[in-house]
Amino acid sequence: MEWGYAGPIGPAHWASLSPDYAPCAGGIQQSPIDITGYGPAVGPVLSFSYAGEASRVASARGPIVVEFASGSSLTLGGRRYELLSAHAHAPAEHRVDGEEFAAELHVVHEDASGDALVVGVLFRLGGASPVLQAMLDAASGGAAALPPGAAAFMPRSNVFYNYTGSKTTPPCQEPVTWVVMRDAGSVSAEQVSALQSFSGGPNNRPLQPLRGRRIVLIGG
Ligand SMILES: [Zn+2]
Repeated sequence: MEWGYAGPIGPAHWASLSPDYAPCAGGIQQSPIDITGYGPAVGPVLSFSYAGEASRVASARGPIVVEFASGSSLTLGGRRYELLSAHAHAPAEHRVDGEEFAAELHVVHEDASGDALVVGVLFRLGGASPVLQAMLDAASGGAAALPPGAAAFMPRSNVFYNYTGSKTTPPCQEPVTWVVMRDAGSVSAEQVSALQSFSGGPNNRPLQPLRGRRIVLIGG
C-alpha cells in the first residue's frame, strides 16, 4: 500500500491505509521521539564488527537504501545483530532535548530471532558528510561510484541513547531496540536537498508520545 509524508497518505493517515499499518496509530511504543529526560546508566556494551561489502544501492521508490552483504554485525550486551541495510531521513526524525537535526542515518540490524535494532546517527547542518555523499554518489549511478561498504557506517564513538520504540515507516512495527548515537555528524545543505530529491521531499515522521518509556545514556 502506497504511503508518504504529506496529504491523504501522510503519517496521520498511515494506519487507515492498510490493516497491516495498525501499529502506526495503535502502537504503544512508537518512534521517533524527543530524546530527553535520560539518565546515565551502566548499560550493555556495544561493539561494532562492520567489515562486509555493500551488496547494492536502491533508490527506485524513495530514499536511498544501501543493502549489505552478510558478515557485518554489532553486539549489544552479548546479543548479536546482523547488519542488513542503511537509509537516511532529511530532516532527522529523533530530536535530543528538543534540538532538531538536519538529517538522520538509520542503520538497520536484526538478530537470529528476527528482533530489530536500528542505529540512528544524527547530523547537524555544516560540512558535507562523507558517508552520506558516498550513498548519494552510488545512487546517482556513476560508473566508478561503488556503494559504500559497512565500515563507512561505523560510528566514531560508542556513547549512545537507548530506548525501545518502533520502525518509523509503515507498518511501524514494534518493538525495535533503538541505539541513537550521542555524537552528531554534519551534513551540508546541498546534501540535504539531494537526499530529499531522492525521497520526493522531507521524509521524517512526526514525534510520537513517550508514554513513560525509559531512555538511558550509555557510555557517557
Ligand atoms: Zn528510517
